[in-house]
Amino acid sequence: MVLGDLGVAVVIEDDDDVRNLLDAVLQQAGFEVHSAATGRDGVDVARLRQANVITLDVGLPDIDGFEVLRRIRQFSDAYVVMLTGRNEELDTITALQGGADDYIIKPFRPRELRARISAMMRRPRQGAVGEPEAPVGSPPEPGSAAAGSARRAGTVLHHNGLALDTETRTVALRGTPLGLTRSEFDLLHELLRGTGAVRTRADLVRVVRGEYYREDTYISEADERAVEVHIGNLRRKLREDPQDPRWLVTVRGVGYRLAPKRAE
Ligand code: CA
Repeated sequence: MVLGDLGVAVVIEDDDDVRNLLDAVLQQAGFEVHSAATGRDGVDVARLRQANVITLDVGLPDIDGFEVLRRIRQFSDAYVVMLTGRNEELDTITALQGGADDYIIKPFRPRELRARISAMMRRPRQGAVGEPEAPVGSPPEPGSAAAGSARRAGTVLHHNGLALDTETRTVALRGTPLGLTRSEFDLLHELLRGTGAVRTRADLVRVVRGEYYREDTYISEADERAVEVHIGNLRRKLREDPQDPRWLVTVRGVGYRLAPKRAE
């Protein structure tokens, strides 16, 4: 593997040992790695190097990881993995609400970090610029030879006024686009294509992880709680009425399912 061919990773971590480990693991995985030992430096390095992936420690000596994330999100849509201490589950929730893509609880295994990052990067960013697979020029007429031979058109799933386009990875509610995160999009997609079947929280954890992990992978309570947070964020963006949901129904103790279709 050519060094740096996966793009730029920035490690923001004040513990020298952990920083060196992250640096080594990411270099081996194929990233060009830069690192910083404080939050402010981390923000600068992420901006200067135009990071594609950032690992971000929560406990930093100057400003904490959440503040770093907030600042980074003002100029970057890099994939961000937050690293939290073992007993910081509440922080985990805050991280996901603040725009992190994933989190890892320390101490972590290098293999786990690599797996999480590669799962994360296999999913395109919503509204990513210059999507490599997008056809050039105007789309072919439906039914034309080009439409049949070129790549299949994306599917648009409709449900109670909501339209989800799997090709452009965009969602609109009665024509108004909704800004969803990658995880929110993937969860909504999973439920919309499920035609009302119940999805357990564990199923949805795998969806968020990009189905990278196999059926027998350990799923922690924190992972399931993270799914609940994503669903909560989705409900807020959808302006879902909890008494009378149009899309996301909680199945107590199990997970979620899609609300039935309504006559409009
Ligand atoms: Ca630290």
